[in-house]
Amino acid sequence: MNVDLSRLEEIEVAVSALREGMDSSRRHSFPPSAVSFEENQITLGFDRMRELLAVALSQVPFYEDTRRQLTAPVFTLNDFPVINKSVLREYLASLLTRDPLTTKLPSQEISICTTSGSTGQATAVIRDWQARRADWDLFEMLLDDIGISGVGDTIHLGLRQLGMPLLLPADIGSQGIWWNMPLFQPDNRESRTFYQALHDFSRPSVFYGNSKLFDLADLADEQGWSFDSEAVIWSYETLTKAGRERLTKCFKGQVRNIYGLAETGLIAFECACGSLHFRPDLAVVELLDSDGATIDNEGVIGELVVTVLTSTTMPLIRYRTGDLASWVLNCPCGRISRAVSQLIGRENVRLLTRDGRKFTPYFVLSTLSEAGLTNFQLIQRSLDRIDVVYPRSVSLPAFFWQNVEDKLLEHTMNMALVPCPGDDFHYAESGKRNAAVQLLAIT
Ligand SMILES: [Zn+2]
Repeated sequence: MNVDLSRLEEIEVAVSALREGMDSSRRHSFPPSAVSFEENQITLGFDRMRELLAVALSQVPFYEDTRRQLTAPVFTLNDFPVINKSVLREYLASLLTRDPLTTKLPSQEISICTTSGSTGQATAVIRDWQARRADWDLFEMLLDDIGISGVGDTIHLGLRQLGMPLLLPADIGSQGIWWNMPLFQPDNRESRTFYQALHDFSRPSVFYGNSKLFDLADLADEQGWSFDSEAVIWSYETLTKAGRERLTKCFKGQVRNIYGLAETGLIAFECACGSLHFRPDLAVVELLDSDGATIDNEGVIGELVVTVLTSTTMPLIRYRTGDLASWVLNCPCGRISRAVSQLIGRENVRLLTRDGRKFTPYFVLSTLSEAGLTNFQLIQRSLDRIDVVYPRSVSLPAFFWQNVEDKLLEHTMNMALVPCPGDDFHYAESGKRNAAVQLLAIT
């Protein structure tokens, strides 16, 4: 399959024009990552939380019952109910803040974000410009922590956003160009053209995205391309240890996680010690067990429940994320903001063994990736098999599958993994590719 040379020239012209027009005054000065800086963020976070809860009680119809049930004039986060995705779907209109005088919706710029629907039905949330700005703030802070020099391009292979141009002058972190790369499709001529252009005309400093980075790594191997970036920012999906090593080998830069959902925006980032720190001025995080009780101890796994502090247009208070993690109480990096371990899976994505037992797929994902398969997806359509989809070009060592099944059986995981090289990956509408997808009628 060849690339389209006329399109390649067109992209080259666009890249040169953008570089010439770049304004070096765009460069931001980064805030220092000191403890006093975090203390200020914590203070700001408390102020924002007080305002958010007050607005919710007085201007958001959904919280009328909560207000009526308050027994004291002082209220805390614990007075508010824990909500989940189905509450968002059912009560979207009554979760919006109303103007206190007219009871109409506030007149300001808002946008509707849709969650990927990769784990169930898609859900809409309303976000305003402050919430979007917070995403960039967190991204910049992470780049600053890594020590990015700010001269290269940012390559975004994340979720597709409607109407996003391929090339943009970067407004954050670097003076380069922001490349919004479309999904790579190995047999598609135009797709190959875009990726050839990325290689020929870009100076990548940051790679940002999800499992599509593995597709690019495979393509780089196939074409003999080498990259020398400063950072790889991973988001939206589970990343195994072996997957992380694969990214470092291909792209060279430090691999760090950034965490957020479409509903919450970006709210946490991974420090150099591997913990995921929630920025205290952006979100309040709780960890709840399966009975809804608060977990305070280190090492106990629970579900992340977050309150987003950056927007009062549609307050998101005590929202169940479905992500599982455990507290890290004293992170060696010295930050005082709340931190959790790496996410270990999603509460609502469970695969089933042949005898119908549910389990989180993380152990299977890490077993496969440690055995040498990094770009793959588990798809379960029936109880008696779990398809392992990966690119046809990947060659696996002899006895690979036998070794993997033996290892799973040692952990009493009785399942038939069926190799499906070259099958289509399963993508949500947004372009998100979850590492494991369960398509059974049972949940
Ligand atoms: Zn840390």
